[in-house]
Amino acid sequence: MYLVVLGPPGAGKGTQAALLAKRWGLTHLSTGDLLRQAVETGSPLGEKVKGLLGKGGLVPDDIVIALTQERLESLQDRGAVLDGFPRTLEQARALDRALAGKGVDRAIFIRVSPEELVRRVSSRWTCRVCQTPYNVFTSQPRVPGKCDRCGGELYQRADDTVEGIRKRLEVYLAQTVPVIEYYRERGKLLEVDGEVGVEEVSRRVEAALADPQAQRLRGGG
Ligand code: AMP
Repeated sequence: MYLVVLGPPGAGKGTQAALLAKRWGLTHLSTGDLLRQAVETGSPLGEKVKGLLGKGGLVPDDIVIALTQERLESLQDRGAVLDGFPRTLEQARALDRALAGKGVDRAIFIRVSPEELVRRVSSRWTCRVCQTPYNVFTSQPRVPGKCDRCGGELYQRADDTVEGIRKRLEVYLAQTVPVIEYYRERGKLLEVDGEVGVEEVSRRVEAALADPQAQRLRGGG
């Protein structure tokens, strides 16, 4: 099974993708995490993208498509939850081609208002090692500054500033909203309210996956 998690920055894509991967035994593939890791380790890919990451703009399609394709091939059809990809129509079409024309099984769109996004993202801290996200209001780590899962150091992403978020929302509206329509037109979109707490969002995602027809008739949420 191949799932795509879509939504604006700060919608909780990473959190829900990790829960889905665990629940369904799939690999969690986050292009944002892969790109940040490449920058941290100073790999050739990292050198190429480090000027772009952290500024809110997108990394060019050819680079991200090649990176994702390589990861998908290494999974040898074991299935994945894609988080942060596709972000443009060109990426969505490339993904359909990579999955042998059959395309993804479902695209899950997590809906959150812009006001809530700014509040969430500017209070987000991320583990430098395993990328687990924390929030100073809603999900604090047990020990300040340390990851509960792996003990790694927590830091604020360079693009998690008010200016960075504004830029990422602009990019999202121009480039990624058409991807949501792409999946809607193909009858693959499931829409879920992302403002009801992590566990409730997850419950609704699972309910929508179990009964996509009912979810579509209710019109999301
Ligand atoms: P994320 O962790 O998903 O918010 O991604 C962080 C940053 O990585 C984005 O703001 C982009 O600069 C870059 N990035 C991640 N995924 C993609 C993608 N599919 N296409 C282009 N750029 C991406």
